[in-house]
Amino acid sequence: MDFCETLRSLNIEFTQNEPLSEHTTFKIGGPCDYFVKPTDLDQVIAVVNAAKENRIPYFILGNGSNLLVSDLGIEGAVISLAGFCGVTADGNTLTVLSGTKLSALCSFALEQSLGGMQYFWGIPGTVGGAVYMNAGAYGGEIKDILISVNALIDGEIKQLSAKECELSYRDSIFKRNGGIILSANFGLRPMQKEQIRAEMDTLIARRKDKQPLEFPSAGSTFKRPKDNFAGTLIEECGLKGYSVGGAMVSPKHAGFIVNTGGATASDVRRLIEYVKETVFMQKSVNLESEIIFVGR
Ligand SMILES: Cc1cc2nc3c(=O)[nH]c(=O)nc-3n(C[C@H](O)[C@H](O)[C@H](O)COP(=O)(O)OP(=O)(O)OC[C@H]3O[C@@H](n4cnc5c(N)ncnc54)[C@H](O)[C@@H]3O)c2cc1C
Repeated sequence: MDFCETLRSLNIEFTQNEPLSEHTTFKIGGPCDYFVKPTDLDQVIAVVNAAKENRIPYFILGNGSNLLVSDLGIEGAVISLAGFCGVTADGNTLTVLSGTKLSALCSFALEQSLGGMQYFWGIPGTVGGAVYMNAGAYGGEIKDILISVNALIDGEIKQLSAKECELSYRDSIFKRNGGIILSANFGLRPMQKEQIRAEMDTLIARRKDKQPLEFPSAGSTFKRPKDNFAGTLIEECGLKGYSVGGAMVSPKHAGFIVNTGGATASDVRRLIEYVKETVFMQKSVNLESEIIFVGR
């Protein structure tokens, strides 16, 4: 059976030539050959096996909030885990399927009066993407609350302790081992609902005040350089508002490149290169991209 026949026989939803601009927060990206939406563990495993049997390359997509997808799209299958979601609580421990949005998880933790998750309120990613990136903000990161991860690695489901996930600044072992994060266990602590809500409100207000949330983007373009901030360096180089095509260094926060309308991936790539060169020439700092480039 070929790839499509297998997916149909298993009732796994998919489309062909799906534009990825509809699945990234940058609103940028050409089509993929197959856009597949498994909703449970058996389906996730079946899609991966079918792709391997048919020698179709695959890419795991969370919420597409840290990605710059090529204008030519992605070859093969994009496996979207957006429908692979759910949270359960056992005391102070939450077990979360990897496609669960951080927003849903934060709301769940709030309902359970469990604190420790509120730092992630406002990060538009899934749990899988957040573990992969060791997402963090305002002094909290995934590393602080992660107990363990279940992942599909080399065709086997393995449990990795937080230590084995090798989480560090915007990095994890999953960037190196090709594993698919299936679920994560987080350890939280009892906390008054009012206090959690107040912290969430404060953090979202800070985001709205500082970040250009009115434009599509993929969040911070660059990693934080040692002892400095990318946004400050870029601003000091006079690059706020500098643009290439529809891509612009945000005048509100220089650490963000935004899509002002109709930006292509190639506009963003050219702008990133220009910013890196300028900052290197003027400040002798080598900026490293936090955004992940994928595609043809
Ligand atoms: C407005 C805005 C604000 C942001 N603020 C922050 C912030 O404060 N802090 C921060 O850290 N980030 C921030 N981000 C970036 C982004 O939201 C995070 O990196 C997020 O964790 C990415 O999750 P995602 O599900 O969107 O991953 P995607 O962008 O879909 O994928 C990112 C990478 O993770 C991999 N991946 C995704 N799911 C899995 C899985 N289940 N198994 C294996 N690999 C997987 C993908 O293959 C890809 O390589 C922001 C982004 C935006 C647009």
